[in-house]
Amino acid sequence: MSPVITIDGSQGEGGGQIVRSSLALSMVTGQPIQIDNIRAGRKKPGLKRQHLTALQAAVAISNAEVEGVEPGTSQFSFTPQAVQPGEYYFSVGTAGSATLVLQTILPALMLADAPSTVTIEGGTHNQWAPPYDFLERAYLPLLKRVGPEVELTLHRRGFFPAGGGKFTAYIKPCGKLKQLDLLQRGTLKKKTVEALVAKLPPKIGNREVQTILRHLRWPESQGRVREVDSIGPGNIVQIFLEFANVCEVISACGRQGPPAEAVAKEAVVEAREFLDSSAVVGQHLADQLLLILGLSAAQGNGGAFRTLPLTQHSLTHIDVLKTFLDLDITIEKIKESNEVIVRLSKSL
Ligand code: ATP
Repeated sequence: MSPVITIDGSQGEGGGQIVRSSLALSMVTGQPIQIDNIRAGRKKPGLKRQHLTALQAAVAISNAEVEGVEPGTSQFSFTPQAVQPGEYYFSVGTAGSATLVLQTILPALMLADAPSTVTIEGGTHNQWAPPYDFLERAYLPLLKRVGPEVELTLHRRGFFPAGGGKFTAYIKPCGKLKQLDLLQRGTLKKKTVEALVAKLPPKIGNREVQTILRHLRWPESQGRVREVDSIGPGNIVQIFLEFANVCEVISACGRQGPPAEAVAKEAVVEAREFLDSSAVVGQHLADQLLLILGLSAAQGNGGAFRTLPLTQHSLTHIDVLKTFLDLDITIEKIKESNEVIVRLSKSL
C-alpha cells in the first residue's frame, strides 16, 4: 500500500479547500491521507457540515476507510479503495455549499471507468462558494474542454440560511485529460446582469441591477431580475461576461446588513478589475482550475492560464497539488500589469 500522505490543514489559506482538494487527490491517486489542524485558519476550526458531507461523499464513492469523522473534528485519516461510479445522493443538511461537495468528488468520477449521476442537496447560491451558475457557465465549460462530459440539472435553488437547494450532475468520464491553454479571452460577446430573488421583494434585486448598470455604464437592456423558487428567502446578483473563449461569472450575495447597493458594488469592483485586465480566468476560477489542470499535467498534458494576482487559495492549492503529483508549476509575471500566467506540466 502507498505510504500515508500527511497534510497540514493550517497551511496557507488554512480553510476547507485544503480538505476537499486533498480528498479529491487522494481518490484519484489512491494515496491514503491523514489531515491535521483542519481549518485552523478559520474562526471555528474543524469540519463543518459542508466539509463533513464532502468527506462522506468521498467515502461513499471510494469505499474509503476513515477514522475521526464527526462534526468539528480537526483531524481524520482517509484510505480510499477503487472509485465506484454509480448513482449517488448526498445532502449537506444545512445551507452549506452543495457545489463544493460536487467539486470534491468530480475529479475522481470524471476519471472513473463508467458514468455517474450525483444528486446533491444544500446551498446552491452561497457567499464564499461557487454559485450554481458559476459552475454551469464558467467552470464546467472549461472542464469539458479538458475531456469529461458533465451536465447539470437544477431542481431548486438553495440560499443561506434555509438551504434546500438541489441539483443533479451527470458525469461521463474520459480516460485521458487534454491540454488546456487559456491565454487569450477573445472579444467580449455579451455582458448581462441578473439578480435572483426568492421570497423577498423584487425591488431588492432591482436596486442591485440598477446599481451595477449605472456603475458599469451598461444599458437597461443588459439587466434583469428573476423571482425564483426556494424553501427560504435569498438573493444573489450575478454578472455574466461572455468572451469568445471563456465566460466569467461574478457574484455577490444579498444578506442581512449591507443594503442592496453595497452588495451590488462588491460585484462592480470585481467586474471592473476583470474588465480592465487581460485576464482570461478570474481569481476564483483560477484556484478551481488548478486542480483540473494539475491532473491533466500529471497525465502528461496540463495547460496554462492568464489570471489576476494569485490568491492565497490558489497558492495553497499549488502546494497541495505538489504534495500529491509530480508537477512543474511556474508563475510568470506579466510586465506592466499585476497579471500572471500559470503553467502546469509534468515534472521531467
Ligand atoms: P472555510 O469555511 O474554511 O473558508 P470553505 O470550504 O467554505 O471553507 P474555502 O476553503 O474558502 O471555503 O473555499 C471556497 C471555494 O469557493 C474556493 O475555491 C473559492 O474560489 C470558491 N469561491 C468563493 N467565492 C466564490 C465566488 N464568488 N465565485 C466562485 N467561486 C467562489
